[in-house]
Amino acid sequence: MSTGRWVVTSAWPYINSVPHLGNMIGSILSADVYARFLRMMGDDVVFVSGSDEHGTVIEVEARKKNVSPKELTDLSHDYIVKLWKLWSISFDNYTRTESETHKEFVKEFMLKVFRNGFIDERLQVIPYCSKDEIYLPDRFVEGVCPYCGFEGARGDQCDNCGKLLEPEQLINPKCVLCGSTPVFKNRKHWFFRLDKLEKNVFEWITKHDLLDENVKNFTKSWIETTGLAPRSLTRDNKWGIQSPFPGSEDKTIYVWFDALLGYLSATKEYFTKLSNESEWVKYWLDSEAKTAYFIGKDNIPFHAVILPALLMATQEPYVLPTLISATEYLMYEGRKFSKSRRVGVWIDEALKIVDNVDYWRYSLVRMRPEDKDTNFKWSEFVRFVNNELNDHIGNFIHRVLTLIHRFFGGVVDDVVLTDNTDIEFRKYVDEVWASYKSLMYRAKLREASELIVKLSERGNQYVNVKAPWAKIKENVNEVKSTLNVGFTAVLTLSIMLYPIAPQSSEKLLKTLNISRERVVVRTHPIELVKLPHKINKPEQVFTKIPKELVDILLDDSRREQYLERVRSELNNERPEVLRF
Ligand SMILES: [Zn+2]
Ligand SMILES: [Zn+2]
Repeated sequence: MSTGRWVVTSAWPYINSVPHLGNMIGSILSADVYARFLRMMGDDVVFVSGSDEHGTVIEVEARKKNVSPKELTDLSHDYIVKLWKLWSISFDNYTRTESETHKEFVKEFMLKVFRNGFIDERLQVIPYCSKDEIYLPDRFVEGVCPYCGFEGARGDQCDNCGKLLEPEQLINPKCVLCGSTPVFKNRKHWFFRLDKLEKNVFEWITKHDLLDENVKNFTKSWIETTGLAPRSLTRDNKWGIQSPFPGSEDKTIYVWFDALLGYLSATKEYFTKLSNESEWVKYWLDSEAKTAYFIGKDNIPFHAVILPALLMATQEPYVLPTLISATEYLMYEGRKFSKSRRVGVWIDEALKIVDNVDYWRYSLVRMRPEDKDTNFKWSEFVRFVNNELNDHIGNFIHRVLTLIHRFFGGVVDDVVLTDNTDIEFRKYVDEVWASYKSLMYRAKLREASELIVKLSERGNQYVNVKAPWAKIKENVNEVKSTLNVGFTAVLTLSIMLYPIAPQSSEKLLKTLNISRERVVVRTHPIELVKLPHKINKPEQVFTKIPKELVDILLDDSRREQYLERVRSELNNERPEVLRF
């Protein structure tokens, strides 16, 4: 899967709160790294996402804050869009579920599926809280999971075993707003006939050899154990997209179905804004097109089953997911992130603590939970910045570039390698680049980032062994050769850093005197220069987190006080609806 036409997406954040570091690496940041990588490799990419703003959760939140749902989401959306900029997220279109294009798209799409016979109406038992006087959304009901016995299971899904649920399946159900026992009422609702597509989904997932094992296994075991049942796709609440089926005018489309179709509508909207609307079809209805989804593991059912089934139900040649990268969870100092218990760091706070966004991006990729849960620890964060970025990567780059300036006035010569150590290290650089590419294409971002550190460590050893400063007098040619290879390694590192730490990489490329609007590497980074090549004067790209701050961050009680202060300062900048 080398060059191609891609839609890269991240799960649409539900904007009732500021995302925390776990949300960031679980979807948006990972998707950005992937989109940047593909663009750098010359692929054609549209990177889309948007604010998921409908549903009862926001409706209830707005009621509590005494504003309309739309006022609430307008403020949150604007604030969050600013944060994506600060985090260097390179969206081509970040939109929202309130966009007119999106609402129209969802209605048309659903009507198509309805006309094809995959949506029908049936009676459904809905929990109603007579104390709060509302029909409760699935996740507003909690109880015991009928599959695994977990006590805090929500009415839509069990966080323990991952199974999708209906609220009436819960044992001992309670309204999460007031704790009373809901009554179950019979209501007419419209259902997506997932059961009719079970065979197609199973065949698709079985034959799909690019999907990760965790995604495949989850889906297969779901189908094999319980089978796919019809799933209700309308709700009784007001805040959402009005249901388009005849007789369903008082219902809205369930937020989950609403947001899933955002991947398509956001692509369409992107091209509409460019006055080239029909172009979106090339990205969704063309057998050459590919789609990549970056999600947390709790979103697997919706992306590996429901989305493909919806696309199949149109009976049009929509492209089914090419890659679904589902992360495990990021913990915070051994605990679950929790806004109410103030456990964690939120992405606006992070930048107030350390204002170099590349340090956060790099560290989060280094701890990305790819095959198991991982843990955000401040000591690790400090190690990634001070030790890896500074002592290894930054140091190697700076040494090589300084030597090129000191001995050759900044000129890298074209040489034929004869020395074995040179040949071996150059070979190592090429191998690292090849592995990096293949890991990145498979979205193994953490594994790929490991190679950046390894290459710089080997680079430092190489410079130590070759000791050009000791040989410059008696053997200029050997030094030229060493610095030629050193330069190739530095250039390769700068390119490998680009998707992860784009601002630092751009600074480095400037120093390397590689000035193009957009860097595209077809085969190897060295193709970007023609030797002999003159570089600019090197500057320090990375700096350490100062000792005074490190001391605070590594001391639990001082850090908590410090974080509280940052949080209360930030409350002046956050819109009221997002304050802590
Ligand atoms: Zn369970
Ligand atoms: Zn209640």
